[in-house]
Amino acid sequence: MNESPILLMAPLHGPTQEKLESRHTVHRLWEAPDAGALIASLADTCRVVVTTGGKGIDAATMARLPKLALVACFGVGVDAIDLGYCRKHGVAVTNTPDVLTDEVADLALALLLATVRRIPYGDRFVREGRWLKGGMPLTQSLRGRKVGIVGLGRIGAAIGRRCEPFGTTIGWHGPRAKPGVGWQYFDDVVELARWADVLIAACPGGPETHRLISRAALEALGPEGIFVNIARGSVVDQAALVELLGKGKLGSAGLDVFDDEPNVPQALIEMENVVLQPHMGSATHATRTEMGRLVLENVAAWSEGKPLVTPVA
Ligand code: NAP
Repeated sequence: MNESPILLMAPLHGPTQEKLESRHTVHRLWEAPDAGALIASLADTCRVVVTTGGKGIDAATMARLPKLALVACFGVGVDAIDLGYCRKHGVAVTNTPDVLTDEVADLALALLLATVRRIPYGDRFVREGRWLKGGMPLTQSLRGRKVGIVGLGRIGAAIGRRCEPFGTTIGWHGPRAKPGVGWQYFDDVVELARWADVLIAACPGGPETHRLISRAALEALGPEGIFVNIARGSVVDQAALVELLGKGKLGSAGLDVFDDEPNVPQALIEMENVVLQPHMGSATHATRTEMGRLVLENVAAWSEGKPLVTPVA
Protein backbone atom coordinates (compact mmCIF):
# COMPACT_ATOMS: atom_id res chain seq x y z
CA MET A 1 0.00 0.00 0.00
CA ASN A 2 1.50 3.32 -1.11
CA GLU A 3 1.36 6.01 1.60
CA SER A 4 0.54 9.00 -0.62
CA PRO A 5 -3.23 9.16 -1.17
CA ILE A 6 -4.65 9.41 -4.67
CA LEU A 7 -7.53 11.69 -5.60
CA LEU A 8 -9.76 9.99 -8.20
CA MET A 9 -11.78 12.62 -10.04
CA ALA A 10 -14.39 10.39 -11.69
CA PRO A 11 -15.33 6.70 -11.88
CA LEU A 12 -12.87 4.65 -13.93
CA HIS A 13 -13.24 1.45 -15.93
CA GLY A 14 -14.31 -0.91 -13.10
CA PRO A 15 -11.44 -3.44 -13.10
CA THR A 16 -8.88 -0.62 -13.35
CA GLN A 17 -10.41 1.22 -10.41
CA GLU A 18 -10.42 -2.02 -8.36
CA LYS A 19 -6.70 -2.54 -9.01
CA LEU A 20 -5.88 1.09 -8.23
CA GLU A 21 -7.82 0.89 -4.96
CA SER A 22 -6.16 -2.40 -3.99
CA ARG A 23 -2.73 -0.79 -4.35
CA HIS A 24 -3.30 2.75 -3.02
CA THR A 25 -5.46 4.80 -0.70
CA VAL A 26 -7.92 6.28 -3.18
CA HIS A 27 -10.39 9.07 -2.44
CA ARG A 28 -13.40 9.18 -4.77
CA LEU A 29 -14.18 12.84 -5.37
CA TRP A 30 -17.63 12.27 -6.87
CA GLU A 31 -18.83 10.39 -3.78
CA ALA A 32 -17.61 12.94 -1.25
CA PRO A 33 -20.48 14.66 0.56
CA ASP A 34 -18.36 17.84 0.52
CA ALA A 35 -15.88 17.82 -2.37
CA GLY A 36 -14.19 21.01 -1.20
CA ALA A 37 -13.60 19.56 2.27
CA LEU A 38 -12.14 16.37 0.79
CA ILE A 39 -9.69 18.34 -1.37
CA ALA A 40 -8.74 20.53 1.60
CA SER A 41 -8.07 17.40 3.69
CA LEU A 42 -5.66 16.13 1.01
CA ALA A 43 -3.78 19.40 0.52
CA ASP A 44 -0.69 18.33 2.51
CA THR A 45 -0.45 14.76 1.25
CA CYS A 46 -1.96 14.20 -2.20
CA ARG A 47 0.71 13.94 -4.89
CA VAL A 48 -1.24 11.98 -7.52
CA VAL A 49 -4.56 12.67 -9.23
CA VAL A 50 -6.15 10.10 -11.53
CA THR A 51 -8.79 11.43 -13.90
CA THR A 52 -10.56 10.69 -17.16
CA GLY A 53 -10.34 12.46 -20.52
CA GLY A 54 -13.86 13.79 -20.03
CA LYS A 55 -13.43 14.99 -16.44
CA GLY A 56 -9.85 16.26 -16.52
CA ILE A 57 -8.85 18.69 -13.76
CA ASP A 58 -8.86 22.48 -13.73
CA ALA A 59 -6.26 24.91 -12.42
CA ALA A 60 -8.36 25.95 -9.40
CA THR A 61 -8.57 22.36 -8.14
CA MET A 62 -4.87 21.73 -8.71
CA ALA A 63 -3.99 24.96 -6.92
CA ARG A 64 -5.65 23.52 -3.82
CA LEU A 65 -3.33 20.49 -3.99
CA PRO A 66 0.10 22.18 -3.70
CA LYS A 67 1.98 18.86 -3.36
CA LEU A 68 0.54 17.55 -6.64
CA ALA A 69 3.19 15.95 -8.86
CA LEU A 70 1.29 13.68 -11.30
CA VAL A 71 -2.03 13.77 -13.16
CA ALA A 72 -2.64 10.37 -14.76
CA CYS A 73 -5.37 10.55 -17.38
CA PHE A 74 -7.47 7.56 -18.46
CA GLY A 75 -7.77 8.62 -22.13
CA VAL A 76 -5.55 10.10 -24.82
CA GLY A 77 -7.29 13.50 -25.02
CA VAL A 78 -6.00 15.80 -22.28
CA ASP A 79 -7.94 18.93 -23.28
CA ALA A 80 -9.88 18.91 -19.98
CA ILE A 81 -6.61 19.11 -17.99
CA ASP A 82 -5.14 22.58 -17.58
CA LEU A 83 -1.76 21.78 -19.16
CA GLY A 84 -0.58 25.37 -18.76
CA TYR A 85 -0.92 25.07 -14.99
CA CYS A 86 0.82 21.68 -15.03
CA ARG A 87 3.77 23.02 -17.03
CA LYS A 88 4.10 26.08 -14.80
CA HIS A 89 3.99 24.07 -11.57
CA GLY A 90 6.00 21.03 -12.66
CA VAL A 91 3.07 18.62 -12.53
CA ALA A 92 3.67 15.65 -14.85
CA VAL A 93 0.77 14.46 -17.00
CA THR A 94 0.31 11.02 -18.53
CA ASN A 95 -2.32 9.75 -20.98
CA THR A 96 -3.15 6.49 -22.78
CA PRO A 97 -2.04 6.82 -26.43
CA ASP A 98 -1.73 4.09 -29.09
CA VAL A 99 -3.71 1.38 -27.27
CA LEU A 100 -7.01 2.98 -28.34
CA THR A 101 -6.06 4.11 -31.84
CA ASP A 102 -7.51 1.15 -33.77
CA GLU A 103 -10.71 1.05 -31.71
CA VAL A 104 -11.48 4.74 -32.27
CA ALA A 105 -10.62 4.49 -35.98
CA ASP A 106 -12.94 1.48 -36.25
CA LEU A 107 -15.77 3.51 -34.73
CA ALA A 108 -15.11 6.38 -37.16
CA LEU A 109 -15.49 3.96 -40.08
CA ALA A 110 -18.56 2.38 -38.50
CA LEU A 111 -20.14 5.83 -38.13
CA LEU A 112 -19.19 6.75 -41.69
CA LEU A 113 -20.68 3.59 -43.17
CA ALA A 114 -23.75 3.79 -40.93
CA THR A 115 -24.32 7.37 -42.07
CA VAL A 116 -23.71 6.82 -45.80
CA ARG A 117 -25.70 3.56 -45.99
CA ARG A 118 -28.32 4.72 -43.43
CA ILE A 119 -27.94 1.60 -41.30
CA PRO A 120 -29.89 2.80 -38.21
CA TYR A 121 -32.67 3.97 -40.55
CA GLY A 122 -32.72 0.57 -42.27
CA ASP A 123 -32.79 -1.18 -38.89
CA ARG A 124 -35.85 0.85 -37.87
CA PHE A 125 -37.39 0.26 -41.32
CA VAL A 126 -37.31 -3.52 -40.75
CA ARG A 127 -38.35 -3.46 -37.06
CA GLU A 128 -41.29 -1.13 -37.70
CA GLY A 129 -42.64 -3.36 -40.48
CA ARG A 130 -42.21 -0.72 -43.17
CA TRP A 131 -40.35 -3.20 -45.44
CA LEU A 132 -43.60 -5.19 -45.71
CA LYS A 133 -45.12 -2.21 -47.54
CA GLY A 134 -42.20 -1.57 -49.92
CA GLY A 135 -38.43 -1.28 -50.16
CA MET A 136 -36.27 1.25 -48.36
CA PRO A 137 -35.13 4.22 -50.49
CA LEU A 138 -31.68 3.87 -52.12
CA THR A 139 -28.73 5.36 -50.24
CA GLN A 140 -25.52 7.13 -51.18
CA SER A 141 -22.30 5.19 -51.78
CA LEU A 142 -18.90 5.63 -50.15
CA ARG A 143 -16.97 4.42 -53.19
CA GLY A 144 -15.18 7.08 -55.24
CA ARG A 145 -15.63 9.82 -52.65
CA LYS A 146 -13.07 12.22 -51.25
CA VAL A 147 -12.43 11.94 -47.51
CA GLY A 148 -10.88 14.90 -45.68
CA ILE A 149 -9.30 14.14 -42.29
CA VAL A 150 -8.79 17.00 -39.82
CA GLY A 151 -5.85 16.05 -37.59
CA LEU A 152 -3.59 13.38 -39.06
CA GLY A 153 -2.18 11.92 -35.85
CA ARG A 154 -2.37 8.33 -34.65
CA ILE A 155 -6.16 8.06 -34.97
CA GLY A 156 -6.46 10.26 -38.09
CA ALA A 157 -3.86 8.18 -39.96
CA ALA A 158 -5.55 4.93 -38.86
CA ILE A 159 -8.85 6.30 -40.24
CA GLY A 160 -7.14 7.17 -43.54
CA ARG A 161 -5.67 3.66 -43.84
CA ARG A 162 -9.14 2.18 -43.25
CA CYS A 163 -10.82 4.49 -45.78
CA GLU A 164 -8.51 3.63 -48.68
CA PRO A 165 -9.79 0.06 -49.28
CA PHE A 166 -13.29 1.54 -49.69
CA GLY A 167 -12.12 3.22 -52.89
CA THR A 168 -11.89 6.73 -51.45
CA THR A 169 -9.29 9.45 -52.02
CA ILE A 170 -7.77 10.93 -48.85
CA GLY A 171 -6.86 14.56 -48.11
CA TRP A 172 -6.01 16.07 -44.75
CA HIS A 173 -5.47 19.20 -42.72
CA GLY A 174 -3.21 19.77 -39.73
CA PRO A 175 -1.00 22.53 -38.35
CA ARG A 176 1.89 21.52 -40.61
CA ALA A 177 2.56 19.35 -43.67
CA LYS A 178 4.32 16.08 -42.89
CA PRO A 179 7.08 14.62 -45.04
CA GLY A 180 6.34 11.13 -46.28
CA VAL A 181 2.53 11.36 -46.12
CA GLY A 182 1.21 10.41 -49.55
CA TRP A 183 -2.20 12.02 -49.07
CA GLN A 184 -2.94 15.56 -50.31
CA TYR A 185 -2.33 18.25 -47.67
CA PHE A 186 -4.55 21.32 -47.26
CA ASP A 187 -3.26 24.15 -45.07
CA ASP A 188 -6.80 25.51 -44.69
CA VAL A 189 -9.67 23.49 -43.23
CA VAL A 190 -12.31 25.30 -45.34
CA GLU A 191 -10.38 24.41 -48.50
CA LEU A 192 -10.21 20.78 -47.35
CA ALA A 193 -13.98 20.82 -46.73
CA ARG A 194 -14.61 22.35 -50.19
CA TRP A 195 -12.54 19.57 -51.81
CA ALA A 196 -14.01 16.75 -49.70
CA ASP A 197 -17.28 14.79 -49.81
CA VAL A 198 -16.66 13.52 -46.27
CA LEU A 199 -14.98 15.45 -43.45
CA ILE A 200 -13.76 13.49 -40.41
CA ALA A 201 -12.56 15.28 -37.26
CA ALA A 202 -9.68 13.46 -35.50
CA CYS A 203 -7.74 16.34 -33.91
CA PRO A 204 -7.42 17.09 -30.16
CA GLY A 205 -9.88 19.34 -28.35
CA GLY A 206 -8.82 22.44 -26.41
CA PRO A 207 -8.43 26.14 -27.16
CA GLU A 208 -6.28 25.68 -30.31
CA THR A 209 -8.94 23.67 -32.15
CA HIS A 210 -12.04 25.33 -30.65
CA ARG A 211 -14.66 25.59 -33.48
CA LEU A 212 -11.90 24.80 -36.02
CA ILE A 213 -14.63 23.18 -38.10
CA SER A 214 -16.55 26.39 -38.51
CA ARG A 215 -19.86 27.27 -40.15
CA ALA A 216 -17.84 28.18 -43.26
CA ALA A 217 -16.21 24.73 -43.33
CA LEU A 218 -19.56 22.96 -42.93
CA GLU A 219 -21.11 25.12 -45.66
CA ALA A 220 -18.15 24.31 -47.92
CA LEU A 221 -18.78 20.60 -47.32
CA GLY A 222 -22.23 21.23 -48.74
CA PRO A 223 -25.69 19.64 -49.11
CA GLU A 224 -24.28 16.22 -50.13
CA GLY A 225 -21.46 16.39 -47.60
CA ILE A 226 -20.99 14.00 -44.68
CA PHE A 227 -19.42 15.09 -41.39
CA VAL A 228 -18.04 12.56 -38.89
CA ASN A 229 -16.77 13.59 -35.46
CA ILE A 230 -14.85 11.23 -33.17
CA ALA A 231 -12.59 14.04 -31.84
CA ARG A 232 -14.31 16.38 -29.38
CA GLY A 233 -17.56 18.35 -29.53
CA SER A 234 -15.59 21.59 -29.11
CA VAL A 235 -13.81 21.23 -32.48
CA VAL A 236 -17.01 21.94 -34.45
CA ASP A 237 -19.50 24.81 -34.37
CA GLN A 238 -22.32 22.61 -33.05
CA ALA A 239 -25.03 25.27 -33.41
CA ALA A 240 -24.12 25.73 -37.10
CA LEU A 241 -23.93 21.95 -37.53
CA VAL A 242 -27.48 21.51 -36.22
CA GLU A 243 -28.80 24.40 -38.28
CA LEU A 244 -27.17 23.35 -41.56
CA LEU A 245 -28.21 19.69 -41.16
CA GLY A 246 -31.77 20.83 -40.45
CA LYS A 247 -31.90 23.10 -43.51
CA GLY A 248 -30.36 20.52 -45.87
CA LYS A 249 -27.26 22.69 -46.36
CA LEU A 250 -25.16 19.85 -44.95
CA GLY A 251 -26.04 16.30 -46.02
CA SER A 252 -25.59 14.06 -42.99
CA ALA A 253 -23.47 13.43 -39.91
CA GLY A 254 -22.12 10.62 -37.73
CA LEU A 255 -21.34 11.94 -34.26
CA ASP A 256 -19.67 10.30 -31.26
CA VAL A 257 -18.88 13.52 -29.36
CA PHE A 258 -20.84 16.65 -28.43
CA ASP A 259 -20.47 20.02 -26.76
CA ASP A 260 -22.17 19.27 -23.45
CA GLU A 261 -22.11 15.50 -22.98
CA PRO A 262 -24.32 13.65 -22.21
CA ASN A 263 -26.75 16.33 -23.40
CA VAL A 264 -27.41 16.07 -27.14
CA PRO A 265 -29.51 18.75 -28.85
CA GLN A 266 -33.08 17.52 -29.35
CA ALA A 267 -32.90 18.67 -32.98
CA LEU A 268 -30.09 16.16 -33.66
CA ILE A 269 -32.01 13.39 -31.89
CA GLU A 270 -34.96 13.95 -34.22
CA MET A 271 -32.96 14.03 -37.49
CA GLU A 272 -33.05 11.00 -39.81
CA ASN A 273 -29.80 12.10 -41.51
CA VAL A 274 -27.73 11.82 -38.32
CA VAL A 275 -26.21 8.75 -36.62
CA LEU A 276 -25.45 9.23 -32.92
CA GLN A 277 -23.16 7.45 -30.46
CA PRO A 278 -22.65 8.18 -26.74
CA HIS A 279 -18.86 8.84 -26.88
CA MET A 280 -17.97 5.18 -27.49
CA GLY A 281 -14.74 5.57 -29.50
CA SER A 282 -12.49 3.60 -27.14
CA ALA A 283 -15.29 1.94 -25.17
CA THR A 284 -14.65 -1.79 -25.57
CA HIS A 285 -13.64 -4.18 -22.80
CA ALA A 286 -10.29 -4.97 -24.44
CA THR A 287 -9.27 -1.37 -25.11
CA ARG A 288 -10.44 0.00 -21.77
CA THR A 289 -8.40 -2.77 -20.08
CA GLU A 290 -5.31 -1.65 -22.02
CA MET A 291 -5.95 2.00 -21.16
CA GLY A 292 -6.29 1.00 -17.50
CA ARG A 293 -3.01 -0.92 -17.66
CA LEU A 294 -1.24 2.25 -18.83
CA VAL A 295 -2.79 4.35 -16.04
CA LEU A 296 -1.66 1.81 -13.43
CA GLU A 297 1.82 1.52 -14.95
CA ASN A 298 2.25 5.29 -14.96
CA VAL A 299 1.16 5.60 -11.31
CA ALA A 300 3.48 2.72 -10.38
CA ALA A 301 6.40 4.24 -12.31
CA TRP A 302 5.91 7.58 -10.56
CA SER A 303 5.61 5.91 -7.12
CA GLU A 304 8.85 3.99 -7.70
CA GLY A 305 10.72 7.02 -9.06
CA LYS A 306 11.02 5.44 -12.53
CA PRO A 307 10.47 7.22 -15.89
CA LEU A 308 6.79 7.63 -16.76
CA VAL A 309 5.55 5.18 -19.40
CA THR A 310 3.42 7.56 -21.49
CA PRO A 311 4.09 11.17 -20.48
CA VAL A 312 2.30 13.94 -22.37
CA ALA A 313 5.05 15.94 -24.10
P1 NAP B 1 -2.42 12.56 -31.81
O1 NAP B 1 -1.65 11.38 -32.32
O2 NAP B 1 -1.73 13.53 -30.93
O3 NAP B 1 -3.01 13.31 -33.10
C1 NAP B 1 -3.58 14.56 -33.05
C2 NAP B 1 -3.33 15.19 -34.40
O4 NAP B 1 -4.07 16.42 -34.45
C3 NAP B 1 -1.87 15.50 -34.66
O5 NAP B 1 -1.51 15.00 -35.93
C4 NAP B 1 -1.80 17.01 -34.64
O6 NAP B 1 -0.91 17.56 -35.59
C5 NAP B 1 -3.21 17.37 -35.05
N1 NAP B 1 -3.55 18.72 -34.66
C6 NAP B 1 -3.10 19.43 -33.60
N2 NAP B 1 -3.60 20.69 -33.64
C7 NAP B 1 -4.35 20.75 -34.74
C8 NAP B 1 -5.09 21.79 -35.36
N3 NAP B 1 -5.14 23.01 -34.81
N4 NAP B 1 -5.72 21.52 -36.51
C9 NAP B 1 -5.68 20.29 -37.06
N5 NAP B 1 -4.99 19.27 -36.55
C10 NAP B 1 -4.34 19.49 -35.39
O7 NAP B 1 -3.70 12.09 -31.01
P2 NAP B 1 -4.63 10.82 -31.30
O8 NAP B 1 -4.20 9.70 -30.43
O9 NAP B 1 -4.73 10.60 -32.77
O10 NAP B 1 -6.02 11.37 -30.71
C11 NAP B 1 -6.64 12.48 -31.33
C12 NAP B 1 -7.85 12.94 -30.55
O11 NAP B 1 -8.92 12.01 -30.71
C13 NAP B 1 -7.68 13.03 -29.03
O12 NAP B 1 -7.00 14.19 -28.63
C14 NAP B 1 -9.11 13.00 -28.54
O13 NAP B 1 -9.64 14.30 -28.48
C15 NAP B 1 -9.83 12.21 -29.64
N6 NAP B 1 -10.27 10.89 -29.14
C16 NAP B 1 -11.61 10.60 -29.12
C17 NAP B 1 -12.04 9.37 -28.65
C18 NAP B 1 -13.49 9.00 -28.64
O14 NAP B 1 -13.88 8.16 -27.83
N7 NAP B 1 -14.31 9.54 -29.51
C19 NAP B 1 -11.11 8.44 -28.17
C20 NAP B 1 -9.77 8.77 -28.21
C21 NAP B 1 -9.35 10.00 -28.70
P3 NAP B 1 0.69 17.36 -35.50
O15 NAP B 1 0.93 15.93 -35.85
O16 NAP B 1 1.23 18.28 -36.52
O17 NAP B 1 1.06 17.70 -34.09
